[in-house]
Order: sequence, then C-alpha cells, then structure tokens
Amino acid sequence: MIRILKPTSHVENLQRLDLEEWRRRGIRGVLIDLDNTISPWRKNDITQEALDLFQRASAAGIQVMLFTNAHAKRAGQAAANAGIPFFPSAKKPLPWRFRKAAGSLGLLPNQVLMVGDQIFTDVLGGNLAGCVTVLVPPLEENEYGGTKMLRLMERMIGIRQKFRRSPK
Ligand SMILES: [Mg+2]
Repeated sequence: MIRILKPTSHVENLQRLDLEEWRRRGIRGVLIDLDNTISPWRKNDITQEALDLFQRASAAGIQVMLFTNAHAKRAGQAAANAGIPFFPSAKKPLPWRFRKAAGSLGLLPNQVLMVGDQIFTDVLGGNLAGCVTVLVPPLEENEYGGTKMLRLMERMIGIRQKFRRSPK
C-alpha cells in the first residue's frame, strides 16, 4: 500500500469522530468535505450527524471549515445551511490549498483534521499538506463519473472500507 494514500484514521460515521480525543492530541481545526461527507451528492442538505459534529466541535473549542472543490455559490449555500465558514474551489488534492485553508484558521497543518470520503482528494491532499486525515464512508453511491473511477482505484489499493452510511 502507498503510505501517502493511507488516512491517519477511519471512522464509521461522523458520530464516531472523538473530537475531545483529537483536541488532546493537539487538533484545533477541522476541514470538512461536502459531497458525500456531510451532504448527499449534489444536495445542500446537511446531515444531522454533521450538524451534531459542528456543535461538538464548538463545545470542544475546535474550529470547523467547509473545504470543498465545489464552486463558491454552491459551497456558500451548503456552508450557510451548516452554519460554518467555507473555502470553495479547494482544488483538492493540491497540498498548498490545504495549507492555505489551515492558515486562514490561524493554524498549522498538523493542528488540522481533514475529514472526507475520498482517498485521492481528501486523504492524499491532506497527507501531502501535513494535516491529520480521517476517512469516512461516502453517504451515497451517486457520484460524478470521475469519482467513480477514483472509487475503483480506491478498491484496487484496498483502503476503502466496506460499510456505507445512510443520510439522516
Ligand atoms: Mg466527497
């Protein structure tokens, strides 16, 4: 397995993300993916588990920012629904974009958790940037054609978990 593609941690769903523990380990910010991580594909409805996560982050003194390849208009709508700031057109997996996003929170990359459902964008870019990476299963099967190809590659390298979440 290629080490740079391996997430620091896997969780089954966002409820399982132990922010208190991550805070003890020095994490002060979360960059969170949009499509299939906090919102079903191409919708701007934010799942309850994501809304709960943002509340827990706030209580733990951890900043959260939406970090998505979606353009500003859509990212802004989703972020408004989520009640968090956003960094659109992220161009994941380009690592300097992760560093820029971390910097915009006043944080170093190693103080930031990148949480997302894709290995070749969220995990790869986060690892290259020096962030801590957490992989979650995608919410839905519906995806862009390009993403389907990446999923096939994810299965080939054997990192992808077998379980799926259901939107709440
Ligand atoms: Mg995604």
